[in-house]
Amino acid sequence: MSALTELYQQIALCQKCDIARLRTKAVPGEGAENADIMFIGEAPGWHEDQQGRPFVGQAGQYLDRLLASINLKRQQVYIANVIKCRPPDNRDPLPTEIQNCCQWLDSQIEIIKPNMIVTLGRYSMARYFAGKSISKIHGTAQKRDGVIYYAMYHPAAALHQQSLKQAIEADMLKIPRLLTENKNIQEVKPSTEGGQQLNMFEV
Ligand code: URA
Repeated sequence: MSALTELYQQIALCQKCDIARLRTKAVPGEGAENADIMFIGEAPGWHEDQQGRPFVGQAGQYLDRLLASINLKRQQVYIANVIKCRPPDNRDPLPTEIQNCCQWLDSQIEIIKPNMIVTLGRYSMARYFAGKSISKIHGTAQKRDGVIYYAMYHPAAALHQQSLKQAIEADMLKIPRLLTENKNIQEVKPSTEGGQQLNMFEV
């Protein structure tokens, strides 16, 4: 059994949060075990909860179109969420839920070892760009320990707001160049200021 399949079995049994009891299916994530790029969203919605697969509703169909704009299919990347169970009425994830669930996401990253982590929306951004505002840093990247971290708006938000739609589509188009230029991108030195890494570069 692959390490990811084993992890999916553990996630399906997880009962750390109250919302575990409300789920139809846990939504661990899906895609290539050797993916170069990992996309991280927020939390499963109704469709995802029904199917046990990430980004299969309207926002997911839009994500598929965004991927197609850079000649990628979802099977070639890895798609996950910060939390693996659907919050009731699609409310925002609670800090305790994010805390309880982050071990699964960390394990996925450890197994897949992506070259690039793309955060979709505020919740996944907060894990890798602490204290930043998405309106300021979307479309910018940081490299740490050889991995490129890249922030984008959430596809669901972009679907409903024209200015965000233009931004997310433009930001997606920058991904191929970031990946090919990975070796030339300078590592960010960890800053001592508030434990945050402050240098970002525009692409
Ligand atoms: N929104 C997310 O953040 N994740 C999904 O899987 C679906 C919608």
